[in-house]
Amino acid sequence: MNIVSAEFVKSVADLQRCPAGGRPEVALAGRSNVGKSSLLNCLVNRRNLARTSNTPGRTRTLNFYLINNRFYLVDLPGYGYARVPEKMRVGWGPLIEGYLSRRPELRGVIQIVDLRHPPTAQDVQLYQWLKHHHLPAVVVATKADKLSKSQGLRQLLVVRQTLGLTGDDPLIKFSARTREGRDELWRVIEGWIN
Ligand code: GDP
Repeated sequence: MNIVSAEFVKSVADLQRCPAGGRPEVALAGRSNVGKSSLLNCLVNRRNLARTSNTPGRTRTLNFYLINNRFYLVDLPGYGYARVPEKMRVGWGPLIEGYLSRRPELRGVIQIVDLRHPPTAQDVQLYQWLKHHHLPAVVVATKADKLSKSQGLRQLLVVRQTLGLTGDDPLIKFSARTREGRDELWRVIEGWIN
């Protein structure tokens, strides 16, 4: 996709405040520090559009980025954040779960995992939840540049098996540093929003 414009529009802590206008939305989900902001910046060719996850106040909100005035990339709160009280770490919280289950504009979810490590219990829980709710999802295993080619391929299998991906479920090896996987991910996104 040719990125003509990419702008931060708003952060919302309440589903009622999601943007109106009916444009399609694609959400990004993953645990804190997995590389979600870097992936978003890589997708839209910006260094700093998505703030890093430690920006105060933006960590528990849905952040809407309008791309080419045509669709939104929606950055969901990172989960599994160690400093979040236990109570809030359980499940997805009403905001994420409400958004994922009740947002008509949502076309698909980019679930980001770290290629170097087996997906966490929460990664598995989210993926199974998306499947259960028949939400289109693509799993993106990022930080691929940190592994050798053979290690990377081995880890892809671990990701596939741990999340319970079946043959047709898309899985993309990605790196925000080398931009590996970027074109493939855009093709998935374009398929969803067109
Ligand atoms: P977020 O909390 O999920 O938004 O994670 P960030 O995008 O802030 O990334 C967390 C850390 O991982 C930062 O130090 C990034 O520079 C690093 N990082 C993210 N993606 C990659 C990648 O593809 N390759 C490498 N080598 N580092 C990455």
